[in-house]
Amino acid sequence: MIAINDLDREEITRTLSELGEPRYRAVQICDWLYRRRATSFEDMTNLPLDLRRHLSKKFAIKRVRLIDEIVSPEDGATKYLLQLHDSLHIESVLLPHPRGATLCISSQVGCAFGCRFCATATMGFIRNLSPGEIVDQVNFAIDYLSHETPKERRQVLKRPFSNVVFMGMGEPLANFENVVKAIRIIIEEVGIGSRHITISTCAIPEKIVKLAELPYEIKLAISLNNPRDEKRKEIMPVAGKFALKEVMAAARYYYSKKKRFLTFEYVLIEGINDSPRDAQEVARLLEGLPSKINLIALNPFPDCPYRRPKASTITRFASLLEAKGRNVTVRKSLGSDILAGCGQLGTLANKLRHKS
Ligand code: SF4
Repeated sequence: MIAINDLDREEITRTLSELGEPRYRAVQICDWLYRRRATSFEDMTNLPLDLRRHLSKKFAIKRVRLIDEIVSPEDGATKYLLQLHDSLHIESVLLPHPRGATLCISSQVGCAFGCRFCATATMGFIRNLSPGEIVDQVNFAIDYLSHETPKERRQVLKRPFSNVVFMGMGEPLANFENVVKAIRIIIEEVGIGSRHITISTCAIPEKIVKLAELPYEIKLAISLNNPRDEKRKEIMPVAGKFALKEVMAAARYYYSKKKRFLTFEYVLIEGINDSPRDAQEVARLLEGLPSKINLIALNPFPDCPYRRPKASTITRFASLLEAKGRNVTVRKSLGSDILAGCGQLGTLANKLRHKS
């Protein structure tokens, strides 16, 4: 059965007009779906009974369900393990920050891109998330934080989250249509502005160009991780398909259209991409492109073949970039004590499910 919460307002309006219903019914239904997180048509008490009955025969409302919540005692990062209607698992992570928390959401179950430093990659690709499943991670978090999170925890967070980042399980640009539709619903119905939404990608140049054509001010974060194609390929198989020359051309095009600073994510891995030469080549690669580099020390997961560099190596890498005039932030690996790296908990849950 089609999930009505996979539809945007225009599609719901069209469906209702085929039933002879006025436009304002679509507004009411969107309000129930994307603001009040109704779980059944019965909840929609301002709709006529006949319409509710008709809709419930034609559509389902598919919600994500909380299975587990783990809060980091170190920094308050919170991981939500969520179950989908077909019993697969995904995860969202809430990352607290004094200026407003960020919710990190998933776009796929598993991932086909095989980055060697990433837990999700060990699961392979299972399926794309639908627009409704993406949006409902945001609706779930808003709902849960407002109604079910204990008061003491809410005080730690200080403010509800104001930013959404596609940096959970999956490569968002490989699920392009569903992700774009979800973003439209998040902006138009949930009320989070496009400037507060970030897509983090392992870099698919043609999709970056397509994203640049959209009328949204979405922030773009590109997973760089090595300034040389040959070395990048060793940790990111996607680099065998798209050379850095193409990636950088797409990044510059994105900047030319949006005029917004780009972010380059750089996961530092001991002995793999943390040398002074690597830092100098990163600085050269980003020459003239308004951007910042986010350095993140590897967050090792079970069976991870790599190690996190020493703190002194990270500091040296950052200083070399700064000396070349680049903007650098060394991101604290929030929630590293609760498997909060990309996809770690969801991967574990899906693996256990496949074994059982
Ligand atoms: S880092 Fe992102 S693109 Fe790479 S395997 Fe993990 S989820 Fe996929």
